[in-house]
Amino acid sequence: MKLIDMHCDTLSKLVLRDNESLTTNTLCIDLNGLRRADSMVQFFACFADKEDYREPYSYDVAYHMIFRMIERMRQEISRAPDKIGLARSNKEIMDNSKSGKISALLTVEEGGILNGHLPRLDKLYQEGIRLITLTWNYENSLGYPNSSNSAVMQQGLKPFGFDVIKRMNELKMLIDVSHLSDGGFWDVIRTTKYPVVASHSNARSLCDDQRNMTDEMLKALGENGGVAGLNFCDDFLNKNHRSDVESMVKHIMYMLNLAGQDSVAIGTDLDGIEGDLEINHIAKMELLYSALRKNGLTETQIEKIWYKNALRVLNECMN
Ligand SMILES: [Zn+2]
Repeated sequence: MKLIDMHCDTLSKLVLRDNESLTTNTLCIDLNGLRRADSMVQFFACFADKEDYREPYSYDVAYHMIFRMIERMRQEISRAPDKIGLARSNKEIMDNSKSGKISALLTVEEGGILNGHLPRLDKLYQEGIRLITLTWNYENSLGYPNSSNSAVMQQGLKPFGFDVIKRMNELKMLIDVSHLSDGGFWDVIRTTKYPVVASHSNARSLCDDQRNMTDEMLKALGENGGVAGLNFCDDFLNKNHRSDVESMVKHIMYMLNLAGQDSVAIGTDLDGIEGDLEINHIAKMELLYSALRKNGLTETQIEKIWYKNALRVLNECMN
């Protein structure tokens, strides 16, 4: 069964490793694993942590680092052009798929790198970025992050955040609300013209973590036509410090019941998470598939979670 994984950090790791590649690496995602998983589209995040760069220009330095990651992805693709291709449109996804190629969809995780400059958004679009995760875990020029401080959590988007939403709608880029404050989430839902994604977030009612979504948020996401991608991080699955398939099934069942069968997708977060992972490689997605079948989900239902829901959102939100 085809698979669309809406979030991984493989590219950000790869860019720091000159002697590894997408073909051969010690990470959780490689080309063989993607083929084994029957990957249709793999989202590759260009991730920026401002703490890695020196203040006061950290976001600006991070912005330039994004282009190194984009360039690295282009190199990886040029090394295996028969196996993987860049996807900047739905037509490219279909063309790649027809030629038996996996599509790589480039994203930016941390809208802070825009740092108040809207033209940067257009530049990133030109370079092939098709999704932006509006915040990571810090306040930035767009808004506020998920936080244990309720005053921060209730904060909405900043004026520049609204400008970014509008421009992303015009360009037809996917808006990702994972990591965003709850207040920011509601501002996005009220403002966007298209469905949004929570590319890698689970259900807060099942696992009380600020990175997960409340029942109200999951319902609203469903009504908006968006999707939430199941995150494999143990902290967002349970409090046992183990990323196990059993907990994944629980979150999927919960989110299906609450948000509807058109609103759940996959966002593994592989290579962005550590710890004891039962699915520690994309090649092992079969484990989750079998568990969902055992739990009573039909092929048709799993097909939606595996790729059809994400593909529908791509069709609606991207050219
Ligand atoms: Zn993340």
